[in-house]
Amino acid sequence: MADGVTTASPAPRARVQTMKEYHPPLGGRDALRLDFNENTIACSPKVREVLGQISAGSLTKYPEREPVEAIVAAHLGLKPEQVVLTNGVDEAIHVLFESFLDAGDELLLPVPTYTMYEVYASATDARVVTVQADAGLQFPFERLLNAIAPRTKVIAIANPNSPTGSVATRAQLLQLAEHAPQAALLVDEAYFHFHGETVMDLVGKAPNLFIARTFSKAYGLAGLRLGLLAGSAELMRWVRRVLSPYSVNSLALACLPPALEDAQYLDWYVKEVLAARSEFDAALDAARLRRWPSRANFVLAEIGARHAEFTQRMRAAGVLVRDRSSDPGCDGCVRITIGTREQMKMAAAALNETLAALRQKV
Ligand code: PMP
Repeated sequence: MADGVTTASPAPRARVQTMKEYHPPLGGRDALRLDFNENTIACSPKVREVLGQISAGSLTKYPEREPVEAIVAAHLGLKPEQVVLTNGVDEAIHVLFESFLDAGDELLLPVPTYTMYEVYASATDARVVTVQADAGLQFPFERLLNAIAPRTKVIAIANPNSPTGSVATRAQLLQLAEHAPQAALLVDEAYFHFHGETVMDLVGKAPNLFIARTFSKAYGLAGLRLGLLAGSAELMRWVRRVLSPYSVNSLALACLPPALEDAQYLDWYVKEVLAARSEFDAALDAARLRRWPSRANFVLAEIGARHAEFTQRMRAAGVLVRDRSSDPGCDGCVRITIGTREQMKMAAAALNETLAALRQKV
């Protein structure tokens, strides 16, 4: 040590040292994007119009979240104190975990499910307790109920779930909330619009219930990073302490009201995807691939041992799909986002060609 300079470098927390960096394949996506469950065409033209009118001067100002939170609360039939806007649902998950998960606590997670729950949990000092779905990949309700312990502080359920597209019922969610009064029950309704069922009306009634929604999927605003978290006013007070007042940018805030107002666009997009999903399901059946019934804008299909080659060949054919084979219980599976009927016809053609090539080359 010369001149008071040490060669030691700052060490991160022990938990951070054991974390892996998560790198979803976001690069080189100039193709038909059926890999991230985004809207596959565009947001509402009304949103585009508002974006085009944003002045350079207005960008010099820090964003103000509260007025827009009041609008979204009214839209959901909630009180403003029951809702926060977040930088995507990802920030809602992060903030919720930071607020409720202490050393020695447990996050209870049915798996397979959305990857970011484990990523954010691994940055806390809590333990992740997973409950594996069976081969049918349905919501493992009974086993989840039995896994609830005094240490369970958060239960995270994507409903519909990803990558399976399976759902939990309202009665199941209510029973879980009642069985774990010491835990925050997060119901992540990122894919709500394609499913049509919600427990949003239980916010404030089931005291430990939190609900997340995103503008990244049906609304087509993944690039703006906009999500929300709803819960009882009492519990949302803690979340507001942890959440940055600056994290939702002003472009996202400006786009939210027109996105909510254009119900017609949302309706059209959701109907288009649902029609495309049933056509694409039929294409998967005709190709004799096992698939799991989905209530979301994607479907999980079993390709088998050559899942990686399948994914590469689909990419070469101009269609991006997501290899989920390393998800627990998803060996050999890929997840395919559902776009418009026209896009899914292209996807089905690419799928059939790819399968033919794979089946030829044994
Ligand atoms: N929850 C689930 C279940 C998801 O699948 C995703 C996106 N893949 C998200 C949340 C993330 O949403 P956002 O873009 O709002 O962060």
